[in-house]
Amino acid sequence: MAAEKTQAIVLKLVEFSETSCVVTLFTEDFGKIGALAKGARRPKSPFEGALDLLALVCIVLLRKSSEALDLLTEARLERRFRSSQRDLARLYAGYYVAELLNELTEPGDPHRELFQAADATLFALDHDAPVAETVLRFELVALREAGHMPSLAECVACGRPVTSDKRFAFGMTAGGVLCDDCRPGRRGVVGVSRGVLAALQQASSGTEPKETEFVLDRAIQGELRAVMNNYFAHLAGHRLRMSEYLGALPNQ
Ligand SMILES: [Zn+2]
Repeated sequence: MAAEKTQAIVLKLVEFSETSCVVTLFTEDFGKIGALAKGARRPKSPFEGALDLLALVCIVLLRKSSEALDLLTEARLERRFRSSQRDLARLYAGYYVAELLNELTEPGDPHRELFQAADATLFALDHDAPVAETVLRFELVALREAGHMPSLAECVACGRPVTSDKRFAFGMTAGGVLCDDCRPGRRGVVGVSRGVLAALQQASSGTEPKETEFVLDRAIQGELRAVMNNYFAHLAGHRLRMSEYLGALPNQ
């Protein structure tokens, strides 16, 4: 059993015994892991308050080879997620980042770029970046990393470019836009406006949450959230818990 050191984002904390808890971490080097933090609930915890939801921490852990929980031996706080203290929309967006990491990745499957994007997204949310744009960009990075990036310009079934002057057919199960020939007989198809498709294309053109790069048209935001919530529900097999809280992210 070798001791491994890595950076991690705290996704979830569950009390395990009177003194310990089980922590779900999204780590830079090992992806999502579950680890036992012995003594984390003691007044003088060896983790010194580092195990805080959405905090960025530097950890040392003993990896278990089987399906047993890893053992967390050290956690040093690098950055706390502070949005909870000042802004509900930013707090919900942070919880949503955690939910996406949890839902879209498998335990022990490393995604370094996704880790970096999540870290940058939480930082941006804590530093006045526009919430809706920051969330959308992260969603698209998460989709790409998880291998579920929807096809936005070419028909997902036949590969031909799809054009329309009105609404586009978007196959939730197929995973992207469908041309008129491929649409018939498919299930889970919704109509998506040109504006929503354009926003998705724009937001997927980079990986860093740079606030100046694009601005979401507020007129399409409701439709955009409905499409994304629906798409993630299809992927996860259930509606995501935080989806409903993203319905009305304020303009900021
Ligand atoms: Zn087609």
